[in-house]
Amino acid sequence: MEKVRNFVVLGGGISGLSAAYYLQMSLNGLKHQRCLNKVTVLENSPRIGGWIESTQLNNGAIFEHGPRSLRPFGVGRASLDLVNDLGLSDKVLPVLQTHPGSQNRFIYANGQLHTLPNNLGALFKKQPLFSQRLITTFIKEIFKKKSLKEDESIHSFVSRRFSNDIADYLVDALCIGVFAADCRKLSVRSCFPMLFDAEQSRGSVVLANLSPSKAKQESSLDVQSNHLIERSTNERWTMWSLEGGLQKLPDKIYETLIDAGVSVIKSTACTSIDFKETDAGKKVANVSTSSGNCIEADHVLSAIPSQALTSVLSKHNSTFRDALSSMDAVDVAVVNLQYNGNILKQQGFGYLIPSNQQSKLLGVIFDSCTFPSNDSQDSPSTRLTCMMGGSWFQEHFGSVTSVDNDHLLTVAKDNIKDHLGIVDELINTAVKIHQKCIPTYKPGHFKVLENLESHIIDERLPLSLLGSSYYGVSVNDCINNSRNAVNQIIQSI
Ligand SMILES: Cc1cc2nc3c(=O)[nH]c(=O)nc-3n(C[C@H](O)[C@H](O)[C@H](O)COP(=O)(O)OP(=O)(O)OC[C@H]3O[C@@H](n4cnc5c(N)ncnc54)[C@H](O)[C@@H]3O)c2cc1C
Repeated sequence: MEKVRNFVVLGGGISGLSAAYYLQMSLNGLKHQRCLNKVTVLENSPRIGGWIESTQLNNGAIFEHGPRSLRPFGVGRASLDLVNDLGLSDKVLPVLQTHPGSQNRFIYANGQLHTLPNNLGALFKKQPLFSQRLITTFIKEIFKKKSLKEDESIHSFVSRRFSNDIADYLVDALCIGVFAADCRKLSVRSCFPMLFDAEQSRGSVVLANLSPSKAKQESSLDVQSNHLIERSTNERWTMWSLEGGLQKLPDKIYETLIDAGVSVIKSTACTSIDFKETDAGKKVANVSTSSGNCIEADHVLSAIPSQALTSVLSKHNSTFRDALSSMDAVDVAVVNLQYNGNILKQQGFGYLIPSNQQSKLLGVIFDSCTFPSNDSQDSPSTRLTCMMGGSWFQEHFGSVTSVDNDHLLTVAKDNIKDHLGIVDELINTAVKIHQKCIPTYKPGHFKVLENLESHIIDERLPLSLLGSSYYGVSVNDCINNSRNAVNQIIQSI
């Protein structure tokens, strides 16, 4: 009888789906196989995609409740490669460098919108939010002493190397935009490894950016170029999304997996994993599910949040579980608004609000400006997304489990009125509360990861850690990390 090799992927978010895709495609390509490979994906909820969720409204417009745009460069090449492989290239909505969505990003502070510097000239002009010209701060950074710290908060790194006002306004807002979190609680080494490495390897962030090392330039080259990647470079895209919403990406992966014979089991959680050694001395994992089944897996690819993995490993080593459960994540409320007509006075990607301002919003995205093709087909409209909560959820709204959707909608409308002067009647709204949706990589996160990975190696656990809890929160990071993990598994077969 032919031996079956079982791979179980936990989670049907973008990390789990892309891992299952790369795994199935790589296994199909293996020659001289002496066993049958079976890939199973377990997804707790009735839908796939995880935080990626798009809704098409009756008037054709798209509301994105989670991520909406991806960068094409660096690790983003892996995502474009995947999109190309899946045959979704003609659905890509690129944003070119010359588009207002690329040119204009704002910070709302002291009662007004400030355009972020978007050209070299802006470095030489005095900007209202910064006490000295940016060029002066940047030149001084070149001569700052290198720190010997293993890690520190992003705020502390930026204040030390640049200035307090760059940390308080620019970087604080940037961290809110990416992590919905307080930059005083985030690790520079894990959240912005390029900044950390620049100081360690070149002694200066500015110098490292002026003349990137060969290693850095080549780091993204392991993805072979294709028509879509070349287009993104030649046409100078700064970001992209998909016609019909980003949800089309997990949907297409799901469809491809089903066609390839992968079992994607929805509404079924992994409830526990027990590792055991076979008579032949090999470690395997018994994966139990909420439907009462147990799968003996040769390898488990965990693409569920670290907190969820902690609870399924309830019988496992407590140091390992303590390390997993020390990782935290923030709650975010997302309010989508649609108005009739093009009513925005400023065209751009949107604005972020530094935490030192009196506002209950984290930021607002001008969806209809950046991705007009995802708008109503018959008449133009304005779509905005307000992000709220993050590190400040409890302080602004109380408990995440009891907050009222109508209250969140009112806060969003009032702030939009104050910030943008919009008082028009809304034609569509949506409110979603995402619990523990974006991980907070705290200072020392790298050490926790080192401990987890060495435990896996020492105990020879057939387990890979994927997903946004570990090595990057962007969709691009999730896809690229799944791709790398699968390459490692395939090499070890
Ligand atoms: C509001 C918001 C906006 C964002 N905007 C952007 C953006 O514009 N660009 C960008 O690049 N990134 C953005 N991100 C980040 C990005 O969307 C996420 O980091 C990424 O989607 C995480 O994917 P994942 O597959 O790792 O995890 P998830 O999406 O969390 O998927 C994990 C899956 O595991 C399932 N699961 C949990 N427990 C179990 C269990 N025990 N058994 C089985 N299944 C289980 C869950 O149901 C879920 O489907 C945003 C995130 C949020 C929340």
